[in-house]
Amino acid sequence: MSKIPLHPSNRWVKCLSSHGNIRGVAIHATELVAGMAKLHGIRGVPAACLGEAVIGALLIASNSKGQERVNLNIQATGPVRQALVDAHPDGTARGYVITSETAPEATLGTWGEGMLSVLRTKTESQNQPYIGTVPLITGHLAKDLSFYWVQSEQIPSAVGISVKLDAEGGIESASGFLVQAMPGATSEEVRLIESQINHLNTLAGEFGGGSEPTKLLARIFSDSSFMLLEERQLGFSCSCSRERVTRALTLVGVDELESMLSEDGGASVRCDFCNESYTFEKDQLVELIRSSRQR
Ligand SMILES: [Zn+2]
Repeated sequence: MSKIPLHPSNRWVKCLSSHGNIRGVAIHATELVAGMAKLHGIRGVPAACLGEAVIGALLIASNSKGQERVNLNIQATGPVRQALVDAHPDGTARGYVITSETAPEATLGTWGEGMLSVLRTKTESQNQPYIGTVPLITGHLAKDLSFYWVQSEQIPSAVGISVKLDAEGGIESASGFLVQAMPGATSEEVRLIESQINHLNTLAGEFGGGSEPTKLLARIFSDSSFMLLEERQLGFSCSCSRERVTRALTLVGVDELESMLSEDGGASVRCDFCNESYTFEKDQLVELIRSSRQR
């Protein structure tokens, strides 16, 4: 069961230029991001950072194939110390941010300095996960993600992310796009798209309020024709369950479980991604310790 209702306008639209050399995806996810900020009780800059990370992870997941899971992990020196977002090619995502406890120094961009890691895991095979890490260079997530694609996956890419806050610090809009040159793209084609994207300099104003990803793609691709490849509903999904939490607790070790029992008379575990609480009463914890001992 999802904690955030699906909103029909929240989706990604993928396209390919008619020559097949440039691919693009545009995302509108205002209600999804607003719902996640509300779920975590955050406003202002942390909410905007969460929104940017969610759009970024969905952009990455949108060009994953099959059963791949994408984890975007950003560690930064700005008001947000860490952002963790999981996204899937089925258009679902979950995530949270950890804010800095000390007042951050003036930072480069919103995020400041730090590292950006992308972990891609095939969920159905034993293949080694792929991990790519780049430093945050500009502190602007869209620019640093462009750098990630060039540096880590050798794909010339342009990324735009727009998250706007309302007067109360809530999410007013959240959207983004990714345009990539495929092998075989001519420098002419790449230049055309680049100049078009540079025209979208008032990115937020240009598409922030709009809820139509296809229109954004039409602006980016301008006069070049393109074909729509996929349109997908986006939503929130968390994979936590009592079973998973139980398994995680057994890994904590008998000593730790014993001290939970004697100090708290039970255990309570909260999922950072969705805030679901799993409570283990005294007798349940005793049973868990007993079965852990038998391993
Ligand atoms: Zn959860």
